[in-house]
Amino acid sequence: MVFRILRPDSVEVWKNQEILKRFPKYRGIIDGTQIARYLIARTIDCEYESNDSIENLEIILKAKSEEFNSLLKAEIEEIEHRITADQSYIHLAETLANKYLEKCIFCERQCEINRIDGDKGFCLISKDSYVSSAFLHMGEEPVLIPSGTIFFQGCNFGCVFCQNSDISQAWKNKKNLEDIAQKVNPKQLAGIANKLVDKGAININYVGGDPIPNIHTIVGSLNYQSSNICQLWNSNFFLTDKSLSLIIDFMDFWLPDFKYGNNECAKKYSGIENYFDIVARNHKRIHDEGSGEICIRHLVMPNHIECCSKPILDYVAKELPKAVMNIMGQYRPQYKAFNYEEINRRPTSQEMQEVRDYADKLGILWRPVS
Ligand code: SF4
Repeated sequence: MVFRILRPDSVEVWKNQEILKRFPKYRGIIDGTQIARYLIARTIDCEYESNDSIENLEIILKAKSEEFNSLLKAEIEEIEHRITADQSYIHLAETLANKYLEKCIFCERQCEINRIDGDKGFCLISKDSYVSSAFLHMGEEPVLIPSGTIFFQGCNFGCVFCQNSDISQAWKNKKNLEDIAQKVNPKQLAGIANKLVDKGAININYVGGDPIPNIHTIVGSLNYQSSNICQLWNSNFFLTDKSLSLIIDFMDFWLPDFKYGNNECAKKYSGIENYFDIVARNHKRIHDEGSGEICIRHLVMPNHIECCSKPILDYVAKELPKAVMNIMGQYRPQYKAFNYEEINRRPTSQEMQEVRDYADKLGILWRPVS
């Protein structure tokens, strides 16, 4: 049995019965009364050959996902007694992820370049993953702190207002990534995660840039992590349906962004196509098929209440009733936002109030995490 220490502000939030009701497994993992999903997945035996075709591996992955979800219904005592498989569901997902790397389709940019051979797509990350920092983050939502946050270099978005451009963009001009970040393989990444747990993390929080270009390393690290710790995916969520299949059963908690309420604004400020359709699809899938324990982050942008904030809130209220929302007011013009007059200021208090009132009107739970 593991006991973790919650910070006083977290304790207050957990007194909210609605939060407890939305995040029961996550809280159970913190308290040691539930088992992290990746540990359960490690007990599922998989028969496959590493030279199997992608199509065959995908068929086996689907079958193993069904087996995993049946197993989740078993009593915890039964799960506790299962042993780790020599070749598990996680090994299978890692093998498939490395196959996808040969024609990268991790995110919906679908660059289809061979990252194993060293080619680079939009994110400019080859097969290697780079961690720029890893620490106990106290600035995340109260239910998440202290969060064992691991920042990866590189991003598949190109947001003109990026608040993290030193990690997501600026490094692109550097010749040598090793000068500013630590190259990690799955085993080394697990070592970083294990150290964060030893320091008191209540979750392992994969972020960036974005974690999507590093799915292969993150999934691989789950073979080496050793603690009953919540796995948390903190991302722009622009991943393909196939790559979501690689992680959907292993993540206990989801912290996805929901930035734009339509495709046009996304194209203008992040340079991506079909944003709303893709990100809404992915949110729906983790809500209905994944753990369903979700905190959606929405960064309110100036002059984007009608076109972005309200359509997102409408979608969440209708399609994602289990989700909690963090309605964020910390937008400020950074990076290249000064070139866009309409977003070259902070949101006003009236704009923030309008969004919050609208969320209240729709019955969205946002106050405890915003
Ligand atoms: S992760 Fe996305 S942006 Fe990066 S190479 Fe793959 S498909 Fe392209």
